[in-house]
Amino acid sequence: MTNLKGKTAVVTGSTSGIGLAYARAFAGAGANVVINGFGAPADIEKERSAIEADYKVKAAYSPADMTKPGEIADMVALGEKTFGSVDILVNNAGIQFVSPIEEFPIEKWDAIIAINLSSAFHGIRAAVPGMKKRGWGRIINTASAHSLVASPFKSAYVSAKHGIAGLTKTVALEVATFKITCNCISPGYVWTPLVERQIPDTMKARNMTKEQVIKDVLLDAQPTKEFVTSEQVAALALFLCGDDAAQITGANLSIDGGWTAE
Ligand code: NAD
Repeated sequence: MTNLKGKTAVVTGSTSGIGLAYARAFAGAGANVVINGFGAPADIEKERSAIEADYKVKAAYSPADMTKPGEIADMVALGEKTFGSVDILVNNAGIQFVSPIEEFPIEKWDAIIAINLSSAFHGIRAAVPGMKKRGWGRIINTASAHSLVASPFKSAYVSAKHGIAGLTKTVALEVATFKITCNCISPGYVWTPLVERQIPDTMKARNMTKEQVIKDVLLDAQPTKEFVTSEQVAALALFLCGDDAAQITGANLSIDGGWTAE
């Protein structure tokens, strides 16, 4: 069992979906957490206080917008100031947009590259000095099966996710002698609001019904024919934070029901 007592984890995009599952898993192992992401203030406060109540740890909230480098640095500083350190950084915030490339809105391309890729660069850049000073750190990036293979109509997302796989390897090499690891996790389809929201656009782009999109596009890619769960992804991240994972670095770990084996 991974014990994270005395450690602090910052998880971007953790007001929902996979990020929230990471935050709860780390808190369950004893870490204080900084959650981040958008949503109604009352809903975010409910999640934040539930983490404190359920796991007897401290949870802070950073409203940092992942398109804003200064706010990302402030989020890391908040973790260091509030809890004394940022030992675990999970770059997880992400958005999706589905469209043929010739109609792909330029501002959607820019937003996806900023949130799904550049925000990880800014977060890592801010967190690494403290990790090096303390001689311990875990950096985990949520990539995707789309960091390894492509699907049509997802040009920005696939580009950002391939980019984050490269960033992961580069950072791993740079911090390798400081007892800091950097890995990415590449889930297949996880049933979260991000997946639910892309169904209408995929229906339009492929001229399909909702049921056809779920069966013939989403689960068609996954040989197990089952969605991955957020909790399964979080359990892998928790393992990466433990001593047993100290020599796993620069890896791209698939959790995709066999999708990328094909
Ligand atoms: P989600 O929509 O449930 O959660 C996304 C989170 O990111 C939310 O907390 C949201 O508020 C936050 N966010 C979005 N824009 C932001 C911004 N500008 N600044 C700060 N926070 C912002 O989605 P999810 O499915 O949990 O996705 C989490 C990560 O997992 C993403 O990087 C996604 O690409 C990746 N992923 C998801 C799946 C899947 O099937 N759900 C598969 C592979 C990878």
